[in-house]
Amino acid sequence: MSDTLFHKIIRREIPADIVFEDEQLIAFRDIAPQAPVHVLFVPKRDFATLNDVPEGDAVVIGRLATAAARYAKAQGFAADGYRIVMNCNGDGGQTVFQIHLHLLAGAPLGRFGT
Ligand code: C5P
Repeated sequence: MSDTLFHKIIRREIPADIVFEDEQLIAFRDIAPQAPVHVLFVPKRDFATLNDVPEGDAVVIGRLATAAARYAKAQGFAADGYRIVMNCNGDGGQTVFQIHLHLLAGAPLGRFGT
């Protein structure tokens, strides 16, 4: 396993506010929330960026998205709406090189580019 901050969270070597975990992924609150709800969904398999996910492993991305939707439904804000984002490399603003999906919600988020 790699040694990013998120791998350390998975191994419980650094603390995080974990809201969900199963055999495939872990979800925890972002330490610097950009919205009233900001949760990160991280697969346990190692992929540094979205560029590193082979077509045959597309299910890994699907699991992150469906886990985020399940969380939104369970927390009661799915109908109000939410945003999921995955940053990739420098121009995408990625800072932790283990893929993760941001779930943002809890307020109107505005449209990109406005
Ligand atoms: O997409 P990006 O790689 O920039 O996202 C990394 C996210 O991880 C940031 O939103 C940052 O606030 C979060 N983070 C965290 N806990 C840490 C370190 C970073 O939630 N210990």
